[in-house]
Amino acid sequence: MTVLAATDLDRTLVHSARAAGTVVPGTVVCLERRGDVPTAMLSRRTAEDLAALDRRALWVPATTRSVTQYRRLALGRLGARPRYAVCANGGVLLVDGVADPGWEAEVRRRAASAAPIGEVARRLGASRQVDGCFLVARTTDARLDGLAPWCAGRGWRVDVDRDKVHVLPVSLTKGAAVAEVRRRTGAAHLLAAGDSPLDADLLAAADAGIQPVDGRLYASGWRADHIAVTSGRGVAAGEEIAAWLLAQAR
Ligand SMILES: [Mg+2]
Repeated sequence: MTVLAATDLDRTLVHSARAAGTVVPGTVVCLERRGDVPTAMLSRRTAEDLAALDRRALWVPATTRSVTQYRRLALGRLGARPRYAVCANGGVLLVDGVADPGWEAEVRRRAASAAPIGEVARRLGASRQVDGCFLVARTTDARLDGLAPWCAGRGWRVDVDRDKVHVLPVSLTKGAAVAEVRRRTGAAHLLAAGDSPLDADLLAAADAGIQPVDGRLYASGWRADHIAVTSGRGVAAGEEIAAWLLAQAR
């Protein structure tokens, strides 16, 4: 039986220095840093479990990172080479590292009834386009007032993540992209892990999954009977999640 394990990355399996919690020096693997500061690290045990998961199941990273940001992660350091990866919150499906044109066309088709990204960018003001799929802006000012209802009327939605805001087409989800991978691979069983409201649809679609207790999704009150919750936080939660996925994939 093929098991597909689709996982968010940031604050689920990898953590920045700020989000990591207590870390024992010498026990972590750093996959990305900005200057001297780690922006994505995990414990050695998490790294080993992910490598084992990658061998035992079809591990599919599913991230809101752009393709460029995803490629910045030194996943090779895990000894894992996921064949499929979902980037841009489902907007890009990498197959052997290359953006899949069929999925790109499907994403465009699904977003066709929503307002064009340029119109939303004009309403939002200063913002960054992520792989042409959605927008990210800083949450520091009053531009957010009335934004959510304005977006809802145009097929877009808003997710406020601490100091930044994601503005995405309603149709742009990790769950849809992972469903496409499931369709292509014929995977019989779907496991999922994620920490944010942008992971909720993926978790909901899974046969079983896990979320960290220190995640925004958990803080929002989101629960489901088939979704476990970690007891640890930060890097320790990442370790629990990787071990849980590996055990479920046995
Ligand atoms: Mg996350």
